This record gives sequence, C-alpha cells and structure tokens, in this order.
Amino acid sequence: MAEVAVRNVIKKYGHLQVIHGVNIEIADGEFVVLVGPSGCGKSTLLRMIAGLESISGGEVLIGGRVVNDVLPKDRDIAMVFQNYALYPHKTVAENMGFPLKLKGRPKEEIAAKVRKAAEILALEKLLDRYPKQLSGGQRQRVAMGRAIVRDPQVFLFDEPLSNLDAKLRVTMRVEIKELHQRLKTTTVYVTHDQIEAMTMADKIVVMRDGHVEQIGAPLELYDRPANVFVAGFIGSPA
Ligand code: ADP
Ligand code: MG
Repeated sequence: MAEVAVRNVIKKYGHLQVIHGVNIEIADGEFVVLVGPSGCGKSTLLRMIAGLESISGGEVLIGGRVVNDVLPKDRDIAMVFQNYALYPHKTVAENMGFPLKLKGRPKEEIAAKVRKAAEILALEKLLDRYPKQLSGGQRQRVAMGRAIVRDPQVFLFDEPLSNLDAKLRVTMRVEIKELHQRLKTTTVYVTHDQIEAMTMADKIVVMRDGHVEQIGAPLELYDRPANVFVAGFIGSPA
C-alpha cells in the first residue's frame, strides 16, 4: 500500500487550472523528488499533500486514509520550507521543540526529543543560540530538526536548499540523504534542480505545466526518457 497517494488530483485557482489530474504513488520509506521548471505546479501539489491548499478534484491519501478534508495539524506530516521560517526570538532548542509545545507535550519529553534530534543533526552545541547567530547551513539543520522532533509519517521539503550557496547545497544534499537513510521516513522533496533530483531520489516525478511527464528511478529517466522534454530536462546541466 502506498504511504502517500495522489489520485487524479486537480487544482484550480478560480478559472485557472494549474494541476491537471496528477497521479503519484509513494511507498513507505521512499524518497521521491518532484522536479520541473518554475511554475509547473510542484509547490501547489506539495501544499495539497500538506493540507495547506484545498483540492479541487481527486484524492490525496496518507497511510491509506483520504485526507482531503483533514486539517494540516491533523496530518502526520512535517514540512521544511526554503526560507526555514525560524522564530528569531526563540533559541535553537525552543525553535526545535515548538511543534511539540503546541501539541501540549510535557517539558521532559520535549527536551528529550530535542536532544535526540540535535544529536542526529550535530546541533548539540548550538541549542542555546538564536537564529541570527547561526550560519545558513545551521539554520537549515534547525528547520530539519523541527521536523524530526515530531517523528512524522511523512517529510515534505519545498526547495529547502535554494537559498544556500553552491558548496553548502552539496553538503546539505548529502546530509539530507544520510538523514533519510537513518530515519527511513517517507519523503517528498520538491526542487527545480536536476542534479538534486538525480542524486537524491529513489524515484523522480518530472512535472511540466501541471502534468506528470514521467515517473521513474533516476537511471531509468536518464536511459529511457519518455519524451524530448524529459530527455532535455534530465540530460541538461542545472
Ligand atoms: P512551482 O512550485 O513548480 O514553481 P507553483 O505550484 O508555485 O509552481 O505554481 C503553479 C502555478 O500556479 C503557477 O502558474 C502559479 O502562478 C499558479 N499559482 C500558484 N499559487 C497561486 C495562487 N494562490 N493564485 C493563483 N495562481 C497561483
Ligand atoms: Mg515552488
């Protein structure tokens, strides 16, 4: 059974249709990358999986349950955005523990989970700092820490590395993959960067203009692109 399923999903903004019947099945533990040019509908699709955007047609399932009408807070997911959205006046530990605090979890449990996430992400020594005292990569790790402490069924990433410089992007790519190998959390990762898609994905979903052009393993898309668009997109350097 798919952990996340997107079935015949449509999105309209007023009269403008931006997602045209998309189907994606994501297995438990799989790392799936949605890739495609800017404006093709990647964020919209991810936000529909997160429950941050209403669904105009079709179904989204998480863990076999239709979640179309389930609020984001009641979906077992955690999302990491491109601009991290850390709270400037909270420490690293407070930022990481905040989702659990909102859920009313006991202090001791929050502290233990924050410590564990900090250890996984090598943030132990930075727990008392404020976001402005961190580097870009450290901030990105705190944002991931905030997702990890919730121990969600699914991680959603929307271009998490696009604000980082090229060198740091490479480092963080490796860190996110290592994290996935360790936690094995089902992941949907959005990027417009072909190299990120090719190096990180178990399975790539190539999108264009609100459609899926092809779904397959990186090598499969490289060796047997379904059409000229996929060939050009996967073949050309970022
Ligand atoms: P991507 O993430 O692939 O760059 P988006 O999902 O952000 O693409 O956008 C897909 C399409 O939907 C674009 O044409 C965009 O202009 C449009 N769109 C996104 N959000 C809105 C909105 N709130 N209202 C109207 N159109 C939108
Ligand atoms: Mg986007």
